[in-house]
Amino acid sequence: MRITFCGVRGSTPAPGADYVRYGGNTSCVAVAHSSSDSPVAPVLLLDAGTGLGGVTGLLGGGPFHGTILLTHLHWDHCLGLPFFRGGDRDDARVTLLLPDQGEEASEGSAGAERLLARVMSPPFFPITPRQLRGDWTFGAVAPGQFKAEGFTVEAREIPHKGGRTLGYRVSDGRRVLAYVTDHCPTALGPGADGLGAYHEAALDLAADADLLVHDAQLVAEEVAAEASFGHAAAEYAVGLAQRAGARRVALFHHKPSRTDDQLDAVAYRFADAPVPVLVAAEGLTVAL
Ligand SMILES: [Zn+2]
Ligand SMILES: [Zn+2]
Repeated sequence: MRITFCGVRGSTPAPGADYVRYGGNTSCVAVAHSSSDSPVAPVLLLDAGTGLGGVTGLLGGGPFHGTILLTHLHWDHCLGLPFFRGGDRDDARVTLLLPDQGEEASEGSAGAERLLARVMSPPFFPITPRQLRGDWTFGAVAPGQFKAEGFTVEAREIPHKGGRTLGYRVSDGRRVLAYVTDHCPTALGPGADGLGAYHEAALDLAADADLLVHDAQLVAEEVAAEASFGHAAAEYAVGLAQRAGARRVALFHHKPSRTDDQLDAVAYRFADAPVPVLVAAEGLTVAL
């Protein structure tokens, strides 16, 4: 499994000279079936923030053939959809799956498409999802297990804010990626260290994962004032990885105002952590 971080920022893009090394695009992680260094086109995309635009460059000039899996429908996770040149072309084939928000699952593809059209249609945006070029199909996912592009995906509901959010555990039968972004564990209580509950859904998703990609919008000292916005601290991400037996953790969904130098300081903070920690940066590829 080969993972490329195409957008690592949370909430809103962060342009400017202070955000060059870690990148300013919002959430998008591309997953390919390969453990080698040779480039292989990704077939599974986790979230569709502005980082989705960077996936086009991973496709070798070809169209995207695969699945886009959204954790939830906040702007920073779907804003890239209309600007995905690799997917918005006549020869593209895209399955877009989003978390069922109540009724969509029973209404099939039309329900999922209608839900997405609430954020992507006039007068808020010039076109609707149906007007993307290529063969697009839409679907809603509920907690449970399903297959996508040769991967087995386990979906669990994760506390966040404003709508249903899912976390995903992606396996190719040999390696496991856990993707738990936009996670507010304090919504379920303070937990052992005051950073939020180490609850069953998060522990199950991250259990023995080769890589846990986790919300790190905050650092511990910001939790008291800012956890109500729906996010987790970097220290919680590391604590979860340690408790779940994950082999490595990638801090992800960085606060938009967190500069490169400040993210370097976050990395330094975890230099001796019990689980290896990387601070996700746009363009970084990890082979599992
Ligand atoms: Zn977000
Ligand atoms: Zn969110």
